[in-house]
Amino acid sequence: MKESTAMQNLPPYLFARIEKKIEEARQQGWDVISLGIGDPDQPTPEHIIAALVEASRNPENHQYPSSVGLLCYREAVARWYKNRFGVDLDPYTEVVSLLGSKEGIAHISMAYLDPGDINLVPDPGYPVYGIGTQLAGGTPYLMPLKEENRYLPVLEDIPDHVAKQAKLMFINYPNNPTGAVANREFYQKVVEFARSYDILVCHDAAYSEISYDGCQALSFLQIPGAKEVGVEFHSLSKTYNMTGWRIGWMAGNREAVEVMGRFKSNVDSGVFQAIQYAGIAALEGPQDSVEQLRKMYQERRDAAIEIMRQLGWSYLTPQGSFYMWVKVPPGYTSAEYCEYILEKAKVVITPGNGYGQYGEGYFRIALTVDKSRIIEALQRIKELA
Ligand SMILES: *Cc1c(COP(=O)(O)O)cnc(C)c1O
Repeated sequence: MKESTAMQNLPPYLFARIEKKIEEARQQGWDVISLGIGDPDQPTPEHIIAALVEASRNPENHQYPSSVGLLCYREAVARWYKNRFGVDLDPYTEVVSLLGSKEGIAHISMAYLDPGDINLVPDPGYPVYGIGTQLAGGTPYLMPLKEENRYLPVLEDIPDHVAKQAKLMFINYPNNPTGAVANREFYQKVVEFARSYDILVCHDAAYSEISYDGCQALSFLQIPGAKEVGVEFHSLSKTYNMTGWRIGWMAGNREAVEVMGRFKSNVDSGVFQAIQYAGIAALEGPQDSVEQLRKMYQERRDAAIEIMRQLGWSYLTPQGSFYMWVKVPPGYTSAEYCEYILEKAKVVITPGNGYGQYGEGYFRIALTVDKSRIIEALQRIKELA
């Protein structure tokens, strides 16, 4: 049986070749250091695990959950938004639970697109925005994120006829893969743009709590008018080291939350309730683990920067997320350089073109391994030079 055209048209998996090489190097006994993994290396805080254990013993939690989430979970999300951002959300109508934010990001296109519709998608970016668009039969229009624009899309560059055909716009700050953070002026422009072209803004705020140098990332929903034109996807994955737990939410525009809830009631049956109780414990419990996490990533970032300076590399000092986006030295493509580094230094870095065509010429490193390993990896690369 032949797979669908949409499946056939998905971009090739660029990391497959690298993964094969990592496997080979490990089999030969090399100590490979991977700076390629966008997954926190630290465990979930203990009090969150305790909440899961307790809630999992209650038989009420063994049945099908509601596909939009327990009311008490949605209330905890609303309280967290109020405390953290000063944003008012109605837990009944403006919050829906997700099986991790990736699930909602992939599905929202299916709930909104008709064949031929356009989604505005950042490039480089988290691949799910474009892939969800394609699986829904839509067409991604790439908004280039360039260094000279501090990795913010230039809305004025989007042609009028494209904007008129667009249904959704994806944005993501603090940004994966560039580490850029957006300011209020940018979000204000996005609200105006979305209003004038009738576009639903989908802001991916997965890294809102991972920011550095004492600055706090904004929520898109803090901007006046944002709730009329957009939603925010969020998740416990990065803030509380819970990537394996699969729990997140979408919040904001009431109609969009209703549409998403209706879509989900037809395709899944929600998040295991015990995990939702653990999520409440995460949002409402002590937050010192989050402060420690920021400090740890910042120390890793600063250690990496020190050696990168000596290497003469060109990079953006990340203000948020746990990635660094670095220019490939002259004479290499992204793929060539990453293969060269893997072969000679046994260090995994990911080629920028894996995040879109405008990522060519860059590579990404993730700060998700111990500081000493980051230092060792970069020293190995330094020795090659
Ligand atoms: C990690 C990540 C997410 C979070 O995914 P979950 O499905 O919530 O685990 C979302 N967006 C971006 C850009 C990410 O890097």
